[in-house]
Amino acid sequence: MPDRYKDKPLSNEVISYNFPFISRSDWYAREPKQTTPLNTPVPYVVIHHTYTPAACFNKEECAAAMRQMQQMHIDGNGWWDIGYHFCVGSDGAAYEGRGWETLGAQALHFNSVSIGICLIGDWRFEVPPAQQLKTAKDLIAAGVQQGYIQPEYKLVGHRQVRATECPGTSLFEEIQSWDHYSPFPRSHKDLLNVTELPESVKKVISI
Ligand SMILES: [Zn+2]
Repeated sequence: MPDRYKDKPLSNEVISYNFPFISRSDWYAREPKQTTPLNTPVPYVVIHHTYTPAACFNKEECAAAMRQMQQMHIDGNGWWDIGYHFCVGSDGAAYEGRGWETLGAQALHFNSVSIGICLIGDWRFEVPPAQQLKTAKDLIAAGVQQGYIQPEYKLVGHRQVRATECPGTSLFEEIQSWDHYSPFPRSHKDLLNVTELPESVKKVISI
């Protein structure tokens, strides 16, 4: 962590959530280069893992993971900001990425219809700890309650909309037992049949 941050507390809880909520300023996010509004409420929630950075178990580690991802996404990928809307740590806290109202860069061709939530860690061979799973579910419920996610939303893993191993096989098996899990789309090959996707997006999909 840079020296200038050492005296500042990393703690802040927003009381409207029933879990610790770490805002962008609390993890020392850089300003986004640009933003585009997200059309809400969205019909889909996409679940991710990070693979790297590894799982984090306290605010300092998770805030560092957020800064690392933001740097990779802006400086490495050339994106405007960290790609995800929110990330959840193994500390059970939710970390604000782009937030509820901004278009994400988290699922190619699917960004305009989804909120992307990332569970920090490599979840190919093990499932996240209980408090991480609970906060991810509570965050989705809060998104519905606040009107950013449709009440009849569908929950999918990233691999269902793009050829990727994300969100890791263990986490992918786990989310199939969650409320609103949808087996469709099965893979990116189904994207042209997703009714919620705008025609403008379907036009640029090549399968
Ligand atoms: Zn992903």
